[in-house]
Amino acid sequence: MTAVVEALEVVKRYADGDRTVRAVDGVSLSVEEGELVVLRGTSGSGKTTLLGLLGGMIAPSSGDVRFEGESIVLLREHHRAELRRTKVGFVFQELALIPEMSVLENVLLPLVPDGGGSADDEQRALTSLASLGITREKALARASRLSGGERQRAAIIRALVREPKLLLLDEPTAHLDLENAIGIAKLLLAEKARGRTIIASTHDPRLAEVEGIDRTIEMRDGRRID
Ligand code: ADP
Ligand code: MG
Repeated sequence: MTAVVEALEVVKRYADGDRTVRAVDGVSLSVEEGELVVLRGTSGSGKTTLLGLLGGMIAPSSGDVRFEGESIVLLREHHRAELRRTKVGFVFQELALIPEMSVLENVLLPLVPDGGGSADDEQRALTSLASLGITREKALARASRLSGGERQRAAIIRALVREPKLLLLDEPTAHLDLENAIGIAKLLLAEKARGRTIIASTHDPRLAEVEGIDRTIEMRDGRRID
């Protein structure tokens, strides 16, 4: 089986004054189709940077990242952007739902470049939102009216709207109460059951220890220590 995404000795350095920070310092990993992998580590260990590298949002300083067997490091930026748009769903730590738009408009946003947002798309989005407890009334209201847990669920549904091969989530249960954290864990397990490949960073033991996770990758100072 081909890996969906692979990192080979990937390094990301940042200049910090006259010092260099090695945010990711020689990480290799390979994630197969349908795997649910959790990336653990304290704050500053390199989780967010590694997710950015795997999703083609951050260019490595050295090493290689391969998507479905092909290196994405040397792709031109517009090709990499196309890959991100069509194959990767991201849920960022700062959720970035646009507060003035309705929840439904936010969720349909990734389809806009293709003229999306058809009645069918809307119906599918409303059904997904409803299955996670976001009623039609809330879906049509401004995103700023949602609670933290609802906003996080809506952000995940938005990341799934193009049926991405790979779903990347950065600390998806941060700041959520137990019930909402369990809701997110269930959603990820359901997506895994449908064959979705998922990598989620977390330092939340409630998520990291959920039954059904295939693997935990442990980071410290930019390196894998698992
Ligand atoms: P985590 O998500 O585990 O908290 P990050 O990937 O955000 O870790 O950061 C890893 C290290 O790289 C930290 O020391 C952080 O300060 C540094 N870093 C991350 N992004 C940048 C950046 N854009 N510029 C400079 N340093 C950065
Ligand atoms: Mg982070």
